[in-house]
Amino acid sequence: MKALNELATPALILDRTRLSANLQRMHQRAAALGVALRPHMKTAKSAEVARLATQGQPGGITVSTLAEAAYFAERGFSDITYAVGIVPSKLDVVAAIERKTGARIGLLLDDAGTARAIAERAAALGGNHPVHIEIDTGQHRAGIAPDSSALPEIAGILAAGPATEVAGVLAHAGHSYDCRTIAEIETVAEAERAGAVAASEVLREHGHPCPVVSVGSTPTALHAGDLTGITEMRPGVYMFGDRFQSAILSCTPEDWALSVLATVIGCYPDRDLALIDAGGLALSQDRSMEAIDSTVSYGALYDATGRAPLEGVSLATVNQEHGFIRGRVGTLKVGQRVRVYPNHACMMAAMYKAYNVTDGADEIVAEWDRVNRW
Ligand code: PLP
Repeated sequence: MKALNELATPALILDRTRLSANLQRMHQRAAALGVALRPHMKTAKSAEVARLATQGQPGGITVSTLAEAAYFAERGFSDITYAVGIVPSKLDVVAAIERKTGARIGLLLDDAGTARAIAERAAALGGNHPVHIEIDTGQHRAGIAPDSSALPEIAGILAAGPATEVAGVLAHAGHSYDCRTIAEIETVAEAERAGAVAASEVLREHGHPCPVVSVGSTPTALHAGDLTGITEMRPGVYMFGDRFQSAILSCTPEDWALSVLATVIGCYPDRDLALIDAGGLALSQDRSMEAIDSTVSYGALYDATGRAPLEGVSLATVNQEHGFIRGRVGTLKVGQRVRVYPNHACMMAAMYKAYNVTDGADEIVAEWDRVNRW
């Protein structure tokens, strides 16, 4: 296979050694907490990564798009949770994937009207669709409160439908990203656990067995002190890590597994400027960690090996196909390769069809595809 310096840039690089260590760490967490790990494939979107992430366990995964659901089902993943709210118009696609592959796709909703419409459409399509009810434990994105009267109402509608069943409850503590200390993350993790468990108890009191009690974001999965009453967790970005995850104490820069290889295409030391061929499309423009660091750039600049940070420079701006490096650019030369580690791995990877996989060295040992779009 090729060496890194033979790749056309910009190119997406995945360090398998770091990936494996990150996967191992989360396996150990799940085992220590006594819950199943249902890794969220929204970050990696790759069957090869999913196989490694589910090694030694039943193989259930979480997905964020129906394109992911189809891709993974066609590659042998038969227990899939689609953890974004379902609408009736998408149920036909779900049913078609299930018919074609034999996979079972768990669904998610949080509203009685939607439950009624899904139950009706499911009855027309046939089959048996497991549906999770989304619980809001503090992020206030989607979901209902554990003590909402809508909870038993939704469950009753699903249970009465001939082609739907209550799979359980699902919560996502996305507001763990607002935490700045491990103590704060522990508090959010406990609220996520307690909310999901309280909701499962309400369902059981109303006669629904509630086999799945699902939680998970990377920070809460890594720092939860106790997951009593929880059956599974669904972290995703832990596989690769990124600058945001380091800033909120999920990992260190030595854990970052994903980067973009780019080439210096212009150098103007008199203006303290160098340009690389990776701009807003190749790197994404994600600056969500601005809330933590108002001076945040568009990625962490390293040398071509990805091991030594470039000192005195930063990736200050991006245009569509240009990255603007500002600072002491005197040591950079046109044609030289650099590595950019992402602010947010999920967003940066989204433009690339495949990973160039290394074991941390110069050689590309494999190419792994990804499923993008919807
Ligand atoms: N579950 C749901 C419903 C999500 O939306 C996400 C991420 O957006 C996750 C799990 C995984 O969380 P993280 O990206 O922190 O690993």
